[in-house]
Amino acid sequence: MIEFELWYLVLLPLLFAAGWWLRGVDSRQRGGEADGGPRAYFRGLNYLLNEQPDKAIDAFIEVVRLDPETIELHFALGNLFRRRGEVDRAVRIHTHLLNRADLPARSRAEALAELGQDFLKGGLLDRAEESFTRLLEEPRHRVEALRALLRIFQMEREWSKAIEIARRLEREAGESSHAQVAHFHCELAETALAEKDEDGARTHLEQALKVNRRSVRAAILAGDIALRRGQGAEAIEHWEHIGELNPEYLPLVAGRLADALDAAGRRADALNFLRRSLLDHPSIDLLDITHARIASWESPAAAEALLRDELLRHPSLLGFERLLAARAVSGFADSTLEQLRTLIQTQVRKLARYRCSKCGFRAREFHWQCPGCTSWESYPPRRIEELDAQ
Ligand SMILES: [Zn+2]
Repeated sequence: MIEFELWYLVLLPLLFAAGWWLRGVDSRQRGGEADGGPRAYFRGLNYLLNEQPDKAIDAFIEVVRLDPETIELHFALGNLFRRRGEVDRAVRIHTHLLNRADLPARSRAEALAELGQDFLKGGLLDRAEESFTRLLEEPRHRVEALRALLRIFQMEREWSKAIEIARRLEREAGESSHAQVAHFHCELAETALAEKDEDGARTHLEQALKVNRRSVRAAILAGDIALRRGQGAEAIEHWEHIGELNPEYLPLVAGRLADALDAAGRRADALNFLRRSLLDHPSIDLLDITHARIASWESPAAAEALLRDELLRHPSLLGFERLLAARAVSGFADSTLEQLRTLIQTQVRKLARYRCSKCGFRAREFHWQCPGCTSWESYPPRRIEELDAQ
């Protein structure tokens, strides 16, 4: 049986053939002569019906040679093939159009744009980049090309190029993407930091803050860099600032901040900060961080008491699993409890992930950019169990 979309493939040429016939009547009335075009049409149609799309494409390509007015048919077919995921066929059609010197320049530019989309869909980023870079020369397609290039450079993690394109988009089309561009600078800063280039990292970070003063990620990184340079007090200041910027993100730095306070001889401040944050912004990650510090800085009994209190306020399977684990460590568990813990452990593993709010992609680690849909800041810094309970 022919699937639904294949019927479109068949119907489209039929509609165009009808148009052809009408035009034919018109030209015959004007004394023109009929040509062999429709035969190529119906040959293509026949191939499509017999599910031989490649031979059909050949037949249709012959049609465009005979009648440039059928360009629209080719665009429609090319788009359909691309939508069906048959990128090779879409590329063939659009390349053919692009290479026809006798077609109007406008149609060739459009073919180039379609070809770029084909390559993008097929994951051929280099060739997509090449097509859209060429398309920048076409004023009618420039904004579309800039948008596509911005996407491509992000996929290729070419952050400097992405920044440049984002600037052009803002200048030429008024499309601003400040939050995104701040992330591009942060990516560059992280790379520099990984290469132990602290000065480079600081330069990129200044750029990030210039674009977005309230960037949480930049504040976290600023603290990391300060700590790396042995400036603990400055690091503490940057991380404390996150509580004012957006306390939702506190779990991402709470451990680092508490340890820096402790290293500065301010253990009581560290514990106060953790307890207060947990009270004001309850979160499973924050509970984990606080529990671990209390267990080693105060006592295992105090840590267990914290877990019990927190479970009364915000019951969660993840919290309960931590409590059972703590009991096992302190030797309070019997074999039945141990069994129960193992059982819960396998169940909660799925609940302990982060989840993208745009596409639902799940990840063990927190991401600033979703690996699934490439959106920025689409991961709430909370575990799935908390997200579903909200
Ligand atoms: Zn996503």
